Amino acid sequence: MIKIPDSPVKVKYLIFHGLYTPPYMDPTKETIEGWQKEKGFDEIGYNWLITRQPKLIEGRSTHIAGAHTLGEYNLNSLSCVLTGGKAKNGDRWDFNYTLAQLTIAQRLIHAVKQKYPDIEVCGHRDKDNRRECPGFDVKSVLCGNAHPWAIYG
Ligand SMILES: [Zn+2]
Repeated sequence: MIKIPDSPVKVKYLIFHGLYTPPYMDPTKETIEGWQKEKGFDEIGYNWLITRQPKLIEGRSTHIAGAHTLGEYNLNSLSCVLTGGKAKNGDRWDFNYTLAQLTIAQRLIHAVKQKYPDIEVCGHRDKDNRRECPGFDVKSVLCGNAHPWAIYG
């Protein structure tokens, strides 16, 4: 059972991101934090990380505003990033998340909805149309009735 921590603000969105790393890479939280520090952030900007291993890892505390999307949404959203999403060869998005990652994402959604029944689950690109992140339609893949298996054929 995933325990969802309290948040000091009214949480309206659960926003999914892709890390935009190729499928053969599975960076740890510490590695990601190193990258973010280079960009001037204090720590990981997301509340959860789902690695390819797969593992659900807690990131930034829900008591601190996020640092993952357009300003206003950082204040009233929870966020989760999945490692992967970048094509093996080339600079483009690719739907290469593992089934295990998507299954954990669905468990996280379930747990978050227990706490915040009215939350809107979406992808980064649904809140910032300049972005493709996470490279797939979160609402249909993770929130639809179809099991992720269906996508893998
Ligand atoms: Zn994103």
